[in-house]
Amino acid sequence: MSERTPNGLSIRAAELDAADDLRKLRERFLLPEGVVYLDGNSLGALSAGVPDRVADVVGREWGELLIRSWDESGWWTAPQRIGDRIAPLVGAAPGRIVVGDSTSVNLFKALVGAARLVAARGDAGRDELLVDATTFPTDGYIAASAARMTGLKVVPVEPAALPAALGPRTAVVLMNHVDYRSGRLHDLPGLTAAAHAAGALTVWDLCHSAGALPVGLDAHRVDLAVGCTYKYLNGGPGSPAYLYIAERHQAAFDSPLPGWNSHAEPFAMAPGYVPADGALRGRVGTPDILSMLALEAALDVWDGVPVEAVRAKSLALTDFFLECVEVYVPAGRVESVTPVAHAERGSQVALRAEGAAELMKELIARGVIGDFRHPDVLRFGFTPLYVGFADVERAARTLGDISGHVSG
Ligand SMILES: *Cc1c(COP(=O)(O)O)cnc(C)c1O
Repeated sequence: MSERTPNGLSIRAAELDAADDLRKLRERFLLPEGVVYLDGNSLGALSAGVPDRVADVVGREWGELLIRSWDESGWWTAPQRIGDRIAPLVGAAPGRIVVGDSTSVNLFKALVGAARLVAARGDAGRDELLVDATTFPTDGYIAASAARMTGLKVVPVEPAALPAALGPRTAVVLMNHVDYRSGRLHDLPGLTAAAHAAGALTVWDLCHSAGALPVGLDAHRVDLAVGCTYKYLNGGPGSPAYLYIAERHQAAFDSPLPGWNSHAEPFAMAPGYVPADGALRGRVGTPDILSMLALEAALDVWDGVPVEAVRAKSLALTDFFLECVEVYVPAGRVESVTPVAHAERGSQVALRAEGAAELMKELIARGVIGDFRHPDVLRFGFTPLYVGFADVERAARTLGDISGHVSG
């Protein structure tokens, strides 16, 4: 084991990279030279197959085949086909995930859908929607509106206090799997089981976990889930999100946005609505084909890549980053708000620092791209598919170099 000195750390980074089975996956991405990209938890990198695929979709499928592509190029069935590609990454069987719309819109479908499932059971005493108090803002905004529409009351709950807050009045629980600011990983199996024991349904937001760690939606009996695809799934800016509906809820799932794409016979153009079977009933209107097929091509990078191996590397990267920060950054200059315990850590490290906005600007100017989250957080996302240990060492060293002369 090399020493915990700058020289020792760069030697160790090289050793860790040499021993990394996932190292070669970086070649599946087009990353600019000289940049350490630690913002894949906000916008994943461009995978190598996407530009040609997008050119083909535009030039041939749209330009030449025109309307025939809805059939011949598989456009119409893309939402469920791509849902089935995402499914193994989050532990879902085929037929349970549909791709389309934004995460915000899918949250709306999931929350109203969950409230309607509870109401349909005749559980009138359940009038509370418990919402992760530290949630990404859009989840809270959408939850408030969904609650108003369904007669529920939003109860903000700190994740640690969730088990105690559950009770006979709980209808639905909305939780983020990984906290977007701190990188804290919440106990999806345990909290889902606790919610079920209290008679409630769960909606999980997987934006910061899918593609970075195993989720196990089916195994842990999650009811509904949503997630975006432009973070760790590298689908591209604004690529469509997804909705998971557990098989046992599909027949009763009553979408608040029953567009014609979710009809059992969309081309019958019937005046009356009859929902399609399965997760398909989570579709709404005509899908955003260009973005969706770019996402499909981006998912090719996962061929032969077990998400468990990605998780193991992610933890090794974040461990190594924390160690390098300790060596390179003067004591007390930054404070990690990301849990040390592996069971509580997602795939990012968040450092609280005086002058965080300035520090991040300076880091980016030096080729280390992370992001800043209000008010004082430096956020570094580690995408194991294309981030290596030498990148991690350079990022921490650069932070150390600048932290002396960028003050609070
Ligand atoms: C990124 C993110 C979103 C984004 O929602 P959009 O509708 O895609 O803008 C929602 N929730 C969480 C937890 C996120 O991290």
